[in-house]
Amino acid sequence: MKDTGESKDQQLTVALRIRPLSDAEQEEAATIVAHRLDDQMVVLMDPMEDPDDILRANRSREKTYMFDVAFDYLVSQDEVYRATTKELIEGLISGYNATVFAYGPTGCGKTYTMLGTDKEPGIYVRTLNDLFRAIEETSDDMSYSVSMSYLEVGGLAKPSSGFLDLREDSKGVIQVAGITEVSTINAQEIMELLMRGNKQRTQEPTAANQTSSRSHAVLQVAVKQQSRCREVLQEVRFARLFMIDLAGSERAAQTQNRGQRLKEGAHINRSLLALGNCINALSEKNGNKYVNYRDSKLTRLLKDSLGGNSRTVMIAHISPASMAFEESRNTLTYADRAK
Ligand code: ADP
Ligand code: MG
Repeated sequence: MKDTGESKDQQLTVALRIRPLSDAEQEEAATIVAHRLDDQMVVLMDPMEDPDDILRANRSREKTYMFDVAFDYLVSQDEVYRATTKELIEGLISGYNATVFAYGPTGCGKTYTMLGTDKEPGIYVRTLNDLFRAIEETSDDMSYSVSMSYLEVGGLAKPSSGFLDLREDSKGVIQVAGITEVSTINAQEIMELLMRGNKQRTQEPTAANQTSSRSHAVLQVAVKQQSRCREVLQEVRFARLFMIDLAGSERAAQTQNRGQRLKEGAHINRSLLALGNCINALSEKNGNKYVNYRDSKLTRLLKDSLGGNSRTVMIAHISPASMAFEESRNTLTYADRAK
């Protein structure tokens, strides 16, 4: 069993979320093969394997996987937020970097977890609300400023297209560089901006999914803390929180991509692999295993936010459906290896 006992102070948290069966899956008469057994355990059943083969090889049709926390369709957006991200805020205003990743194949719920919907907002908005509240509650001799940026990383598309820069000015007003101005610190308005940013994400149809997201969407929140000393502001702490809706993890081969799309698929795979390697190296307890951040643009960007005193949360996503079995197994294996 893994070191789940230390929960509170651990540097790496790996969570797993199983979304509900979709209408399309129901229409295809899917059976449910992925279940959450308890708060930490998930079981995946192989729908295809020949029972005789399994008997001969003395294997089980079921495999269980252990996580720090496991969610299924019964778990609300708020519960997911509280169990994964909420406690990073205290660290953030005390100067500790953190990163939250949503990982998984296209269509398995990454954007739902991070961005959510108007009625069921996700981690972005809940985090910003709580961050602003936490800052308001701190003492007056501390001054905080928050700046945000939203950008796309990866794929072969030009990175500039979806860039959105949100800044807070000296009066606590959020400004979106070059686009619009938000008059109050209002998570709802930020949410709308992010929704717009998300729609602009490179979405070209592939055979696997009509809206396969081929870039990593990165929301960066930087918190600067200053103390007032004889009317002079002194910078004491600076910390960053990255909240990242990763590109779909499906294999390039499975999307029947050709040419440019195949290259892009390989590129995404490489960055997800580099990320997995970095996280894996960080989680090695007993070694000075070399962490190669230079393997991809994504890991270079995150260099100062992985390892050290930083905290990392990975939320892996799967579909419960029988036809998603292979993808689910790959995702569970990736997330399992992260720890
Ligand atoms: P991804 O970003 O991984 O490609 P999405 O977040 O877009 O996947 O999810 C695909 C669809 O499934 C969306 O319509 C989304 O609203 C729905 N969905 C995903 N996760 C959940 C969930 N936990 N509860 C309800 N609906 C969900
Ligand atoms: Mg998405």
